[in-house]
Amino acid sequence: MAKRFKHLETSVIHDGYDAKDMLGSLTPPLFQTSTFTFATAEQGERRFSGDEEGYIYSRIGNPTVTALEERMAALEHGERGLAFGSGMAAVSAVLIALTKANDHIVCSSGLYGCTFDLLSMMEEKYVITHSLSNMNSADELRKCIKPETACIYVETPINPTMKLIDLAMVAKVAKEFAIPVVVDNTFCSPYIQRPLDLGCDIVVHSATKYIGGHGDVIAGLVVGSKDFLDTVQMSTQKDIGGIISPFDAWLLIRGLKTLPVRLDRHCDNAEQIFTKLKDHPKVASIYYPGDQANPSYAIMEKQMKRGGGMISFEIKGTKQDAQAMLNALSFVKIAVSLGDAETLIEHPATMTHAVIPEAFRLEMGITDQLIRLSVGLEKWEDVWDDLKQALDKI
Ligand code: PLP
Repeated sequence: MAKRFKHLETSVIHDGYDAKDMLGSLTPPLFQTSTFTFATAEQGERRFSGDEEGYIYSRIGNPTVTALEERMAALEHGERGLAFGSGMAAVSAVLIALTKANDHIVCSSGLYGCTFDLLSMMEEKYVITHSLSNMNSADELRKCIKPETACIYVETPINPTMKLIDLAMVAKVAKEFAIPVVVDNTFCSPYIQRPLDLGCDIVVHSATKYIGGHGDVIAGLVVGSKDFLDTVQMSTQKDIGGIISPFDAWLLIRGLKTLPVRLDRHCDNAEQIFTKLKDHPKVASIYYPGDQANPSYAIMEKQMKRGGGMISFEIKGTKQDAQAMLNALSFVKIAVSLGDAETLIEHPATMTHAVIPEAFRLEMGITDQLIRLSVGLEKWEDVWDDLKQALDKI
């Protein structure tokens, strides 16, 4: 593996790949192949037994995918990375690997809708129960941990309410009980937050978002210890099979090169839009980690480099008013997903979080008036003009 660089800005371009190994090709070549040939039957036997290193079949490894995995491990400060065909393939591979029937998971009280759905399915089919915790203090978290708790699963910032959870505190409590902490770092990327440096054990990503950054790939990534990821690779990844295609891995390698540059622009734009949105008379409340008035601001200062590119806000009005605001936009796109060059806006209660039963949804703070905004890379003044004219129409 290529040397690990001290600075993320260099790491995103160079780590995990050495041109010398690939005929001098500046960019990692795309190995668009399903399988690898063996020179002899005996070599095939050695590869399968592990006596000889080398590629076998792209579900169990591919050089383009390896370059992405090694780069991502370097960026998250982990020992090993694994790439998947979607964020949900990554989340499910990790949670299934960590649990068995009758186990229990403690989760942050806000979760991406499909993660919530996955946990509900695991409960229904395999009796793997879960508790939701606000994780506002170590004591509150300790009270949720049972003898059968297999792991703690955290999203921070929580999608879509932008609430933050103190990762160092969660990691400290988890160590008292010797259980691993899994963090969904999708909203931040390693440029803004590194959960492993804060004592957490496993990081998952929907790489579809900031890692890819261009809205053209669905993918997932996991980073953690070599031991755990070796197990995931040879169990839930190999046998459930949610792998990434080499082409998508290649696109992610390309996207990653501009991650810090893009993220700074996302953050700059979001800070400006936040300042304007918070004072608009049709905005009832606003949630942005970079808001100094936000109760989570102290956590943001502790564990995030910047406030990120995501803002949620509640409008004064009804669900229909929220939908009317979205419909009145001229170029800001109504779409789920986030972290793309284009500014995207959505209505979580009827879109990303619609699968969550209403009572839980409201408990999580996802009201009918809540709108989620992924601030893109356009000139922020143009984005604000569009948002303002749409809000003015409510
Ligand atoms: N985690 C978070 C926080 C998400 O927002 C998403 C998707 O929006 C996922 C996981 C799932 O990722 P994917 O859509 O790539 O499967």
